[in-house]
Amino acid sequence: MRPFEIIEVDGAVAACNGGGGPLGHPRVYLNLGSAGKVECPYCSRLFVARGKATEAGSQPRAPGAPAP
Ligand SMILES: [Zn+2]
Repeated sequence: MRPFEIIEVDGAVAACNGGGGPLGHPRVYLNLGSAGKVECPYCSRLFVARGKATEAGSQPRAPGAPAP
């Protein structure tokens, strides 16, 4: 069983079709709501609003890192 994917989205609505192919599902639109995140009921991918991803466990930018 592979871990759930976390996908950042812009705006308050995410669209998911399972990534297409044999593992895909009909396209659905998911409202992130006030929590800024929603889990797809078909494929269990977690969608988070961009800017809230750090709260979902991603690594914060290291302080003092050189600018690109
Ligand atoms: Zn899905």
